[in-house]
Amino acid sequence: MKPIAVVGLGLIGGSLGLDFSRLGYRVLGVARRPETVEMAMERGVVHQASTDLSLVAEADVVFLCTPIDGVVGVAQQVVPHLKPEAILTDVSSVKGSLVPDLAALWPHFIGGHPMAGKAEAGLAVAEAHLFRGRPYVLTPTEETSPQDLDTLSELVDQLEARRFICFPADHDRAVAWISHLPVMVSSSLIQACQQEPNPELLKLAQALASSGFRDTSRVGGGVPELGTLMARYNREALLSSIALYQRQLGQIRALVEVEDWDGLHHFLAQTQAARPAYIDKMDEA
Ligand code: NAP
Repeated sequence: MKPIAVVGLGLIGGSLGLDFSRLGYRVLGVARRPETVEMAMERGVVHQASTDLSLVAEADVVFLCTPIDGVVGVAQQVVPHLKPEAILTDVSSVKGSLVPDLAALWPHFIGGHPMAGKAEAGLAVAEAHLFRGRPYVLTPTEETSPQDLDTLSELVDQLEARRFICFPADHDRAVAWISHLPVMVSSSLIQACQQEPNPELLKLAQALASSGFRDTSRVGGGVPELGTLMARYNREALLSSIALYQRQLGQIRALVEVEDWDGLHHFLAQTQAARPAYIDKMDEA
């Protein structure tokens, strides 16, 4: 089986390492800190780990799993070590602003985004089967070799992920709606609650918060670095989705202001009918 390298052994890189090791691949891991190298070996995430990027020289497929803002710089350092035919891919949550830069560095680059996450980051929270049943988007370009795409697709399928193939810009618009906008909305919800001027009442609200608040506040209470990077690297798509969201909020506010309860009922009936198209397939997985 093809040796696989993972550069950046955090939540996503560590989880890929665990899965590919479990599937019988020889997995090579590169981390930045020696403590991460140690933990990766101890947890059996990889067969060999190092802080030295030259470890990727043996690999047929290399996954770049470092944070979005450093991924192009890391790729620049990785490329000189790659085998001529090695496939390079990344896992960044945005594609449009990164794929052209990464593809310019390596002819066998294909963008990727495994859409599974957690509120916490780091190798300690990495787990096997994280991608099972979750979407994994690949964003080839017109220059991508069909053979490279087939090889990477096979690996994604072995993770039991639901594979999607689309243009980088379409990926970014779609994830702005279902991933990046929800982070902004959910964090704004928490911030709005924090504006309650009466401290006793705020305490009461916190004590009464239950499953509904847990669901709606989850992504707003996640790692701040990730949300900031999403906004920074997918700014345009995010701004248009925030604008349309604000319009919806204005509409719902107007209905309540004028006590148009039929109108509000109609609005909520529409959202009740629309939601399953986003959610039901998760239960099937
Ligand atoms: P993470 O848990 O913070 O892991 C990032 C890892 O990158 C850390 O372990 C860090 O290593 C390593 N790193 C940073 N700079 C490095 C360098 N120059 N060389 C080698 N390793 C380096 O982050 P993550 O959640 O896995 O996210 C990584 C990528 O996955 C991001 O592009 C993100 O957009 C994408 N993604 C995240 C999620 C999510 O929900 N978390 C979901 C889908 C995709 P040390 O431990 O050695 O410092």
